[in-house]
Amino acid sequence: MTTENLEHTHSYYAATRNDPATWPELEGELRADICVVGGGFTGLNTAINLADLGYSVVLLEGRRIGWGESGRNGGQLIRGIGHDPYQFVRWIGEEGAREIDRMGIEAVQLVKDRIARFAIDCDLAPGHADLALKPRHMREFERDMQSLTDLQYPFEVRLVEQEKIHEVVGSDRYIGALVDMGSAHLHPLNLALGEARAAAALGVKLFEHSMVTRIEYGSKVSVSTRRGRVVADQLVLACNVDLADLEPDVGAKVLPAGSYILATEVLPKRLRDRLLPGNLGVCDVNTVLDYYRLSADGRLLFGGACNYSGKDPRDLRAFMLPKMLRAFPELREANIEFAWGGMIGIGANRMPQIGRLPLHGNVYYAQAYSGHGLNATHMAAKLVAEAIRGESLGFDIFSRVPHLRFPGGKHLRSPLLALGMLWHRFRDLL
Ligand SMILES: Cc1cc2nc3c(=O)[nH]c(=O)nc-3n(C[C@H](O)[C@H](O)[C@H](O)COP(=O)(O)OP(=O)(O)OC[C@H]3O[C@@H](n4cnc5c(N)ncnc54)[C@H](O)[C@@H]3O)c2cc1C
Repeated sequence: MTTENLEHTHSYYAATRNDPATWPELEGELRADICVVGGGFTGLNTAINLADLGYSVVLLEGRRIGWGESGRNGGQLIRGIGHDPYQFVRWIGEEGAREIDRMGIEAVQLVKDRIARFAIDCDLAPGHADLALKPRHMREFERDMQSLTDLQYPFEVRLVEQEKIHEVVGSDRYIGALVDMGSAHLHPLNLALGEARAAAALGVKLFEHSMVTRIEYGSKVSVSTRRGRVVADQLVLACNVDLADLEPDVGAKVLPAGSYILATEVLPKRLRDRLLPGNLGVCDVNTVLDYYRLSADGRLLFGGACNYSGKDPRDLRAFMLPKMLRAFPELREANIEFAWGGMIGIGANRMPQIGRLPLHGNVYYAQAYSGHGLNATHMAAKLVAEAIRGESLGFDIFSRVPHLRFPGGKHLRSPLLALGMLWHRFRDLL
């Protein structure tokens, strides 16, 4: 990872964060109803939901709040959770699959509600478009439209044919689009930092630079950091790609894959209006997809690639630039002011993993959003909090979905993923 250090990576988001707050390192022993490990969207929102329910909560983050995927992602808030819930009908029934579809819509609203409730300044802008590269993608979009109609999706959704594609994106690479005005885009680090403030205001005790290195399971759970310890009735693991060292069994179900983003200089308004006339966030629908949008100050944030080797490319700019120029050759002269990456936590079936440890019923986890976690993290946080309170239909559905454990420890996992993804890439070419 380009990110071994403990501070925020050098990204456009870190450079434009609007809250300089830091939180102390844990020292000494604390007791709480619940300890949450991980200060990304999953951990922060679980903490907020539990505080709302009246629990005392301690949140431990090993680096900085929002240091992981949550503070460095593409910022695209897109409807839907996971990949095709109907493949799990054997375990969750048709009803369960429909419920996941429904939650995929609610999850976007959860994020919008969060922003509204706590007045979080994070550049929320409406609208998203999926972009088609092949006729079969347009057929998939027609099916998506139909299922959104079946789900009584309350926002404008429309198909855009090739003749009108420049109304959505100023590139000749695409043959059509599916525009969805219910999805959105935003500044993810400022969202995470706003959520941390909100959690603290609700009484959550937040700690940074407090890496949990040991868990002792039992009727009370105890977690240890370099200088402190928390003893709690329940534990929530929201560690994403880093869980393997702490909880190898669940950690072995997540595979890290690098994804990278370039931020151009601020572009002239006329050029911006040509590249993305409706200011939508967009992505193509390949497994290894390009995703991009304009920042609030007028840069193109162009993300993509997926590096399954477990190592970041040596020169991120050189690695990403051809992908950006393939979509927008006219940006050849634009300065690239930031280039950064992060590790996406991928599950073999691309469905989030939300559950409880089989041998330790007071330990919960949520992870592996497979690059589509902005909304899903907020839903997972809601479900985990509901389950801790007593019952949650959504939590029960997700915990019945089977997940593959990758053998061989973390060193073997990346080559395995590379093999699997090669297959998906091959399929994208067809
Ligand atoms: C480059 C990139 C682009 C993406 N783009 C999008 C997008 O546009 N839209 C979208 O929906 N999703 C996107 N995603 C995915 C999305 O960002 C994630 O699914 C989501 O942020 C995961 O949140 P999380 O809280 O589970 O994990 P994280 O945000 O990674 O948080 C986990 C935290 O746990 C901490 N931690 C780990 N181990 C320990 C420990 N032992 N003790 C204490 N702390 C620990 C880490 O330091 C980290 O801060 C993208 C991801 C990447 C990397």
